[in-house]
Amino acid sequence: MHELSIVLSIVEIAEQETLKAGARQVERIELEIGALSGVALDALDFAWDMGVKGSVLEQAERCIHQLPGRARCLECGQEFGINQLYEACPGCGSYLLRVLQGQEMRVRALEVSG
Ligand SMILES: [Zn+2]
Repeated sequence: MHELSIVLSIVEIAEQETLKAGARQVERIELEIGALSGVALDALDFAWDMGVKGSVLEQAERCIHQLPGRARCLECGQEFGINQLYEACPGCGSYLLRVLQGQEMRVRALEVSG
């Protein structure tokens, strides 16, 4: 399952950061998940409980920031919101877009304790 491997990589990051800080567990973790990242939130939820078991994240409060998709047209320069990677520019119809936001899947912040 795709989402479980994501959770496990988050656990890995959290364990490194906790170790670096000389702490024992994570109190709170904030994640940024873009609308175009391909991560399904309900599947992530399901995988989370399984993935964090026995790790520094087991007791952590989880906060997810969802980022909407945004792109800029490389033909006419217009910026607009997108819901999927291959959308046409509403201004000129071009598919030559640069995605500005929405592909993120990262840890924004971690609070540790112990
Ligand atoms: Zn355009």
